[in-house]
Order: sequence, then C-alpha cells, then structure tokens
Amino acid sequence: MSTSEVPKFGYLQASSVGDAVSLLTKYGDQAKVIGGATDVLTQMKNGITALTPQYVVDISSLGLDYVRYSDSDGLRIGATTSLTTVSADPNVTSVFAALAQAAGLVGSPQIRNQATIAGDVLQETWCWYLRNSYPGCWRNGGNLCYAALGGDNRYYHSIFGGNLCYAVHSGDVAPALFALGAEATVSGPMGQRTVTMDQLLPGVSIVDGRVKENSLAYNDVLTEFHIPAPASGTKSAFYKVRDRGAFDFALASAAVSAEFSGSALSSVRLVLGAVANKPLRATSAEGYLTGKTLSESVISQAADDALSGATPLTEGTGNSFRVLLAKGAVKYALRGISS
Ligand SMILES: Cc1cc2nc3c(=O)[nH]c(=O)nc-3n(C[C@H](O)[C@H](O)[C@H](O)COP(=O)(O)OP(=O)(O)OC[C@H]3O[C@@H](n4cnc5c(N)ncnc54)[C@H](O)[C@@H]3O)c2cc1C
Ligand code: SF4
Repeated sequence: MSTSEVPKFGYLQASSVGDAVSLLTKYGDQAKVIGGATDVLTQMKNGITALTPQYVVDISSLGLDYVRYSDSDGLRIGATTSLTTVSADPNVTSVFAALAQAAGLVGSPQIRNQATIAGDVLQETWCWYLRNSYPGCWRNGGNLCYAALGGDNRYYHSIFGGNLCYAVHSGDVAPALFALGAEATVSGPMGQRTVTMDQLLPGVSIVDGRVKENSLAYNDVLTEFHIPAPASGTKSAFYKVRDRGAFDFALASAAVSAEFSGSALSSVRLVLGAVANKPLRATSAEGYLTGKTLSESVISQAADDALSGATPLTEGTGNSFRVLLAKGAVKYALRGISS
C-alpha cells in the first residue's frame, strides 16, 4: 500500500446524534462519520480518491459507548463501544460467546482498543486494488473489477460470485451479529429506524451513487446494535482462519448460534464470513443440522453443505483454496457448541 501523508481535512465534533446527521446532510459526500477512525484515516493515508472526505464528523463523544444486558431485553451495544470492551464484557462472554470471540480476534490489541463495533461492521473492503487506489476500480469511482478480470484475488475476494465488485466483507463482528439475530438502530434526516443485519449489509449495490455493501445513506448514523435475549441453553461460537496468528484479516470465518432440545439442535443459524460480499447464511446446512445431534460425521456433512454453492474465482490467481478453509471454519465453529 502507498504510505503518503494524510491530507488536510476539517474536523467536526458532533454535539448530538441529530447534530451529526445535520452536519452530514450539510456537507454531503464531502463528509464522513468517524468512530475510531482506524479505517477512515487509513483510506485517507492511502490516497483512495473516492473515499477521502474533506471533513470528518466525530461521533465518539456522544455517549454511545455502552454495553447493557437484561434477561428481558437482551443485549444493547452503543455504536462507538470499542471492540476491546465488547470482547471483555462479562454478559457478552457468557451469553453471546460468538460475539465476544469475534470481537476479540479483530486485528491487534491496539486496533481493538480504538475501533468501534459500528466501524467494524461498516468498514470498507480491504481489496488491495482499492486500498492501493487503482483508478479503474468500481469502488474508487471506476467501472471495472481488477480482481474478477484475472488479478490477484487470493485473499480479499469472494468465493460466492459478485455483483460489479467481487470483494468480500472482511469484518469479523458482522457474521457473529448475523448469527445472533441482531438488529441495528439508525438515525437519519427522517428520524430513527430499526434494520435487520440483512437490511444493513445486503451485499454490493449502488448507494448514493457509490458501489458499496452497506445500505446506509451518506447522512445516516448507526447508533446501537440490539440482540434479543437467547432461549435458555442457546450456545454460540465463532471461528476465524487467518494467515498470521498475531493479527490478520479472515481468509474465512464461521459463526453459529443454536438452540438445543436435549442433545439435538432445535434451531440453528450458521453464517460464513469473509467469503462473500456480505456475511452469508448457510441455509442448506442449517436445514440439515436441525434435529441432528452433533457428531464428527454430522459436522463434516454440514461443512460440505455450507460450501456446496461456492463458485471460487478461476481467472488470475484464483481462490478455490479458501473453500477448504471455510469448511474448516464451519467445523471448528460447530465443535465450539458441541460440548
Ligand atoms: C492493521 C489492521 C488490521 C485489521 N484487522 C482486522 C481484522 O482482523 N478483522 C476485522 O474485522 N477488521 C480488521 N481491521 C479493520 C478494523 O477493524 C476497522 O478499521 C475498524 O473496526 C473500524 O472501526 P472504526 O471505529 O475505527 O471505524 P472508522 O474508521 O471510524 O469508520 C469505518 C467506516 O464506518 C463508518 N462509520 C463508523 N461508525 C459509524 C456509525 N456509527 N454510523 C455510520 N457510519 C459509521 C465510517 O464512516 C467509515 O466508512 C483491521 C484494520 C487495520 C488497520
Ligand atoms: S473487488 Fe471490488 S474493490 Fe476490488 S478491484 Fe474489484 S471492484 Fe475494486
């Protein structure tokens, strides 16, 4: 990646969520929200033309850093809560293990101390063509995809096809939130709304004239995630395969949340991460697993089912090796709820 200096920019500290929405509305595509700014500043430093704002709107002092749990309401996490706080919270670790594990595996301790839960879910892709500011890339304002056309598509690119852009959603926390049935609260000029994770991350589409994978408009602010309290006996787990053990993005990950009836699974949500342009529910594996007791042969069949629709890239370097890694992630995640 290029390592130029961060260009000069205006810093706007929002005094309330409404003020943040007003500032974003006023400055339009020249402004961007920052939580921890670990992604936004990296984009600016790397000179990604289409992503570099002239103003940042800081929402880190609006009292949105909290984790609250009750048996009746479930879990509420403010948008600017750090990943370190999420991963260490006693209610998260005991009731929502997949989320604690996912947040605890993001980047390095320094990244987790600074990065916010909303920022992790809404981060840009780390496709190296975009991150090195290749001008033709769809996400940099161009009209082609270097990865799909036969470039180096080993690490940050889909094994489940694409739509214009073939980059994956690399965040670790989003697959866990999908598996746990989370919703997000969003404030915009028309007021507040609640969206499912599917609505928040629908996959690649064009929003405000930009190719991106989250559905937020330029003047929306995500304020909170809510996860309903799970049924008694629900277990969840997250597993991530990465190149470097110290810190790295996922080559594949899997998150699972399941209710049990005796030793059998009565309902299950299984989600693949870092293999498609959104966290991907493995619905055929979910159907197969329902009613089954977990054994090594059941786990192995579920992993095969989860990856049965994969269409890895074959032009350029290709990325079919990640189908095997994703199967491994599914197996480890299921083993994580089997004891
Ligand atoms: C060295 C390194 C290693 C990394 N490794 C991993 C990894 O292993 N796993 C992983 O998941 N990630 C990894 N990341 C990505 C990192 O986790 C993200 O940069 C971080 O989570 C973003 O959070 P932030 O609060 O800093 O977001 P910011 O940089 O502040 O924002 C990111 C994006 O989200 C938008 N945004 C932020 N908050 C809101 C909000 N409340 N409402 C609306 N929009 C918002 C911003 O406008 C921006 O587009 C790594 C990053 C680095 C630099
Ligand atoms: S995968 Fe997406 S971000 Fe990467 S080159 Fe293709 S269009 Fe650009």
